[in-house]
Amino acid sequence: MALPKFFITPFPHSDGAKSVLGLPEPPLPVQDGWLQDGRGVYLKSGSQLYRGRWQRRPCDWAFVYAPWCRARIPADETEVEYIGEAWGQRATLALDPTVEWTPRKFRVSRRLNRRPCGFCQTSISPQNPDHHWTLPNFVACDACYEAYVEQRSLGFLPGVAEATKTPPQPSTVPEITILNFDSLRSHSRIHA
Ligand SMILES: [Zn+2]
Repeated sequence: MALPKFFITPFPHSDGAKSVLGLPEPPLPVQDGWLQDGRGVYLKSGSQLYRGRWQRRPCDWAFVYAPWCRARIPADETEVEYIGEAWGQRATLALDPTVEWTPRKFRVSRRLNRRPCGFCQTSISPQNPDHHWTLPNFVACDACYEAYVEQRSLGFLPGVAEATKTPPQPSTVPEITILNFDSLRSHSRIHA
């Protein structure tokens, strides 16, 4: 499994409480909208997912935490993965052990005679009634529940397993200006 990576710039770390700066690897063409200014995105480190949105900057990108995302990437973390918004929601449901799932049997109602599984789109219907349900009204067929939720797997992500790694080009790496305060001070003393 290879997800595109986001290389976090350790310094300047930006405002680590609200955003982190870095360079994202381009996603596969099939992953539409995974890397787009203003779009929602999830950063992933191990099984931890961080919800936020992209912000394009002149030389790099900022990941801006969603106001309701309490978790923060540890300051020494410099390489994380990212998942586009729509798939990131499913990834959270599959990976987060605090998400509560309820086994249910599908019943036809006046409005609904089938529902697609949120992972594989298979119809959950009177012919295939067993499924698991969770908030926000998300359903998984039993096969997907066992393969992804029970195994904490992201195997449902399209094309991810075949993704080829494309590191960012060196020319796009922003130069970091380090101010030498001692020389500034002696400089101002000379001209004082
Ligand atoms: Zn399914």
